[in-house]
Amino acid sequence: MVWDAIFGRRELVHTLQEAVRQGKTTHAYLFSGPEGIGKKTVAGALAAALNCLYPELAGCGSCPSCLAAGKRNHPDIHWLGPEGKSVKLDQIRAVKKYAHLKPRQGKFQVFIIEQADTMTLEAANSLLKVLEEPPAGTVIILLASRPGDLPETVCSRCQHYPVGRLDQDSTVEFLRYHGLEAAADTAREILLWAEGIPGLMLQLADKTSRTAQAKKAAAFLAGLPGLAAISGLAAQLAEEENLPALLDTVTLVLRDLLLLHTVTHDGMMLSGGDRELLAQLADKWPPAACRRALQLLLGLQADLARPVNTRLLLEKALRDLKEVIAHAESCGDPL
Ligand SMILES: [Zn+2]
Repeated sequence: MVWDAIFGRRELVHTLQEAVRQGKTTHAYLFSGPEGIGKKTVAGALAAALNCLYPELAGCGSCPSCLAAGKRNHPDIHWLGPEGKSVKLDQIRAVKKYAHLKPRQGKFQVFIIEQADTMTLEAANSLLKVLEEPPAGTVIILLASRPGDLPETVCSRCQHYPVGRLDQDSTVEFLRYHGLEAAADTAREILLWAEGIPGLMLQLADKTSRTAQAKKAAAFLAGLPGLAAISGLAAQLAEEENLPALLDTVTLVLRDLLLLHTVTHDGMMLSGGDRELLAQLADKWPPAACRRALQLLLGLQADLARPVNTRLLLEKALRDLKEVIAHAESCGDPL
């Protein structure tokens, strides 16, 4: 079945599969959730199911249509995404042109627009016209990590399904599917590190890479108080291959530091980092400073998700963080 590639999220799968089976699908869907959550997998399964040669199965996974959909070469399933930093008017015009044609092979023409939240206003307005008067036999699927950036008029014409995170059981299944047998403890650690996002789990499945990342994050926090070359570090971080993952780990270490301040027993550290190093860090980072730094980092992560000048944002964030640690003793309210 094409749905087998989606782990967990059973309610969503059931709803979509039943809609296809009963011929009750709508003309526009919006799937939202963070990068790596599986929006493309869900959209791909729905598109395949809509055109499956066995309607009673709604996505058998083995008929010629499902196979072509899986290889992304089905003539009626069209994928598009940002050209440069945004989805542009010309691309939506092309969608509109094709949307009025009959499907070539299947029952539905499906247009999957990745990162639809990057659509320019002109593109969104143009798409709105198709959503208002949908051509028969056409389904438009929008994918967005920031659905709030889409105009309300567009959202309200789509059936909106947030794609949820994996739970512990589906994490184990997901890892096993990718050839990684994980004990319950390890699966839980990977789940927490990846925050339930399957796309991140594969990157973080290896313990060595988690430990190395935690050390890097701890070193970053340890170096902040004496940091002189803020611009240099900002430029270096801007080039970091996986900056979002590093920032996630820094927040994980900060959470661990807060735990160290509040509990004394072992076994609760999520970052997997060196406990001695964490204890040294905890001396420099009192609870109030940890909390303020967490707020700053969460804001930075949200800002970085937009098309912005990464280096300048990082420079500002580093200055703010240095300020926090410089006033660590005075900025604090007690826990
Ligand atoms: Zn099929």
